[in-house]
Amino acid sequence: MGLRRAVTILGSTGSIGVNTLDVIERHSDKFRVTALTAHSRIDLLQQQCIRFRPDYAVVADEAQARALTQQLASGGCRTHVLAGPQALETVAALPEVDSVMAAIVGAAGLRPALAAAHAGKRVLLANKEALVMAGALFMDAVRASGALLLPIDSEHNAVFQSLPRDFGRGLEQVGVRRIVLTASGGPFRTLPLAALATVTPEQACKHPNWVMGRKISVDSATMMNKGLEVIEACWLFGARAEQVQVVVHPQSVIHSLVTYLDGSTLAQMSFPDMRTPIAYALGYPDRLEAGVRELDLVAIGALQFEAVDEERFPCVRLALSAFASGGTAPAILNAANEVAVEAFLAGRIGFTQIAALISDALAQQAPLPVSELEQVLQADQQARLRAHAWLRQHGVAANVAAVTN
Ligand code: NAD
Ligand code: MG
Repeated sequence: MGLRRAVTILGSTGSIGVNTLDVIERHSDKFRVTALTAHSRIDLLQQQCIRFRPDYAVVADEAQARALTQQLASGGCRTHVLAGPQALETVAALPEVDSVMAAIVGAAGLRPALAAAHAGKRVLLANKEALVMAGALFMDAVRASGALLLPIDSEHNAVFQSLPRDFGRGLEQVGVRRIVLTASGGPFRTLPLAALATVTPEQACKHPNWVMGRKISVDSATMMNKGLEVIEACWLFGARAEQVQVVVHPQSVIHSLVTYLDGSTLAQMSFPDMRTPIAYALGYPDRLEAGVRELDLVAIGALQFEAVDEERFPCVRLALSAFASGGTAPAILNAANEVAVEAFLAGRIGFTQIAALISDALAQQAPLPVSELEQVLQADQQARLRAHAWLRQHGVAANVAAVTN
């Protein structure tokens, strides 16, 4: 057997995690799974352990770990089960691991993704929140360790594919004028504005082109996702915010574009299926079969493009203004958004109150400069406290929501 690349998947039970294992299973001659992690759906993690036989699995707490250890042992599976946030960092930095898929959702994914970056791994980054919260620290860690950072977010993967290999010299140096991120516009692109206040979590999570976790689905519905992605693009590609344009493209066939000085624009197109960017990053620089169906241009017929409606999607502006403020402002934005999305999903606030909560958080908490991780984590904690206070004032009580849900 040849040398197989050892992979850790942080968040293996999520939408990205499951798609990653699907690609890996198609190429078991090239990859082996060293560690899998999950916070819930431990039954699915158990199935994944039996199938992929990782050396380690990580769960949230000791009780979960004991239960999973017993179940695995009775099935003859020797996976070593660890528990807690520190263990996520451990499996992200194991010396025998080559590639780390960072696919935990939200701020919880920051420390383990950063651990992979510090350890000089091939980092397959799905967890965009890590770059939004701590972009400067993250990119410093990548440079210092010589880690290879490969974007999984479909837009950034498309940009990466459309840039020259040496874009790290600087976008101007390689002749790039602009990065164009496409956005589907989500499920509410054409809904009458007056109806936005009363949309349900189920409607918000029903994305027209992608099946994703609930948090990113709501982010796509508010278009906060695109705001976070502009910030992500700036850090990944060394761009200024003015160099990144957002264009609504409802078909999600062109995943993003790069415009050069000579007027050329290069785009990456594919059927909307996350296994394409995942396979690209796993195999880079080689191409892997991903199980994704080929684009049928004639069947698609036409592609549409339109500008972002900023009245409908105020979250885009909020994200850009937090990025312009700099320091801890994007971490404050991210934390407030996570609390707001969770409250919306729990029926505590309406859809249009998501932007109101975030706007209040940014107005109330002054951003501070960032030179170390602790400052980011403190800003995150403080923003969460304020957001919960805002919810007590403006939201429905949590237990009432539980009944009506
Ligand atoms: P998901 O909700 O489907 O899965 C999240 C994973 O993280 C699960 O395995 C869960 O157990 C784990 N997790 C959740 N909270 C945790 C915690 N506190 N500690 C440890 N683990 C925890 O989410 P997803 O849709 O797979 O998205 C994952 C990340 O990838 C997000 O940052 C998202 O923005 C990004 N992303 C997703 C897609 C997509 O198509 N799903 C596309 C682009 C980017
Ligand atoms: Mg995306």
